[in-house]
Amino acid sequence: MPRILEPGQIEASAGRAIPRIRFPERTCVFSARAQRLRQLAEAGAPGHAIGDYLRLMAVMADAQQLVLGSFEAAAPTAHQLARAATHRMPVIHASSWPRAPYWREVVTQLCGAVAAARDAPAGVRATCEQLQSAPAPALETQADALLGGRTEAVDVGGAPFLMAALQVYWVTLASRLLPDQVPGLEVPGLCPACGTLPVASIVRAEARSEGYRFLHCALCATEWHLVRITCSQCQSTANIAYHSIEGDSGAVRAESCDQCHTYRKILYQEKDTNVDPVADDLGSLALDLLMSEAGYHRGSGNPLLWQRP
Ligand SMILES: [Zn+2]
Ligand SMILES: [Zn+2]
Repeated sequence: MPRILEPGQIEASAGRAIPRIRFPERTCVFSARAQRLRQLAEAGAPGHAIGDYLRLMAVMADAQQLVLGSFEAAAPTAHQLARAATHRMPVIHASSWPRAPYWREVVTQLCGAVAAARDAPAGVRATCEQLQSAPAPALETQADALLGGRTEAVDVGGAPFLMAALQVYWVTLASRLLPDQVPGLEVPGLCPACGTLPVASIVRAEARSEGYRFLHCALCATEWHLVRITCSQCQSTANIAYHSIEGDSGAVRAESCDQCHTYRKILYQEKDTNVDPVADDLGSLALDLLMSEAGYHRGSGNPLLWQRP
């Protein structure tokens, strides 16, 4: 009797081991993003407001890379690793990991870089200066709200800068992990390393990962495998559709699900080797508009763009 193979089984039967998890490359994760943000800004219409924002975020991504190079976080202890394995929970769990105060120093450095940028708007400069002199408890409260997903308590103006600092901190933690230290979670839609929702997904074109789709963590930049044509929100495999802006390169599409009525962007590295989940999601707001008009809502936000809930 013929057997119908699920997509994951087809990939496995092709004789290739699917890399379950990909940790961020700390030598270039943010510098590559900065480059991509600039490329997307140049490609857009001149004087377009989002282009200016992409350029500003490129300045911040460069600053993130610079700080990342001089920063070392403590690796998880044997006790923390054992607890994660026993309970099948994220090792560097975003909302319960004991953050070292150093992350606030990262805020100061990133805000300094953005405020000094030639084209920084007055409002952004004011927000950065405010964050640079904010008392520690206020920053910690905001970080708790951001990492715990309590969006109603988030100060929207400062959120991208705090998230950027927290990304530096969590990328440092994630880049020290080994695949065996990260247990598979009960909830496949959350980052297995830190428990955060993905910002987008990406079909990789590099050797070993070629043709496989990975979800990309909005916080720690870890990527984890999810079979294609599957909703990254509710895991339904029925009624999945793909949408794109007519006439573009096809490197960014929206994957929608009629089960939960959400969508998330999916990037194709074979169409453009430079795609970056955070940058390309930010650079394709026209697609968000299209999806919203079609009645779908985003599975999760972009870490560098916060809107009032
Ligand atoms: Zn993560
Ligand atoms: Zn769904």
